[in-house]
Amino acid sequence: MIAEKLQEVEEKIEAAKARRTPQITEDVQLVAVTKNHDVAAMREAIDAGVTDIGENRIQEAMGKYETLGRQVTWHLIGHLQTNKAKQAVKYFDLIHSVDTPHLARALDKEAGKIGKVQDVLVQVNLAKEESKSGVYEEDLQPLLQLVDELPHLRLCGLMCIAPNYDDTEKCRPLFRRMREIFDGIKDIPFQTANIKYLSMGMSHDYGIAIEEGANIVRVGTAIFGPRQY
Ligand SMILES: *Cc1c(COP(=O)(O)O)cnc(C)c1O
Repeated sequence: MIAEKLQEVEEKIEAAKARRTPQITEDVQLVAVTKNHDVAAMREAIDAGVTDIGENRIQEAMGKYETLGRQVTWHLIGHLQTNKAKQAVKYFDLIHSVDTPHLARALDKEAGKIGKVQDVLVQVNLAKEESKSGVYEEDLQPLLQLVDELPHLRLCGLMCIAPNYDDTEKCRPLFRRMREIFDGIKDIPFQTANIKYLSMGMSHDYGIAIEEGANIVRVGTAIFGPRQY
């Protein structure tokens, strides 16, 4: 079941890639979002070819990490509280949700303590939804500069979550704008940043996100079915 759904998602990813403008040639990394799904489901997905796992809560991810370990790449996609920075740098390969100077500094400090350079994305709240985290576009530049300067963080790109419109086509202008911002920051003369990832698109809108230039998509429900809370 999971294997079949995964294959459908992979086919849709390929189809969406084919619809992009020719300037966008990057590969698209699928992050399978496993929050609220158990290790058995995760194993099924891994056996079917999943290499990258997305979790949004540290506590939940820790238990799963103890069982599955380093056979997959771990992505932290959810909002992160500063007091969890220590665990976050211990478990996660890429943290998608840096959105304040305070959090950036906390992650830098904890990464330094374990001798790690932590790969991070900065989360942008383009639609300025109060219910969502992320930095506003007008505050993005100084945060990018700060993350670039912190010695134990490596800035790798941007992440965004589109509003949950009934009509997913409404997300398109927002994804397009994110890609413009992403292409724009590639030209900034950073010190250590390596701008390569644009993480956007979830189960209901990843096709549109890819068409508009996402190169990481975070897909849960379309692979694992609805979550039980
Ligand atoms: C849960 C979650 C996803 C996956 O959502 P689905 O609709 O289940 O695909 C993607 N990104 C973030 C930040 C999430 O919290």
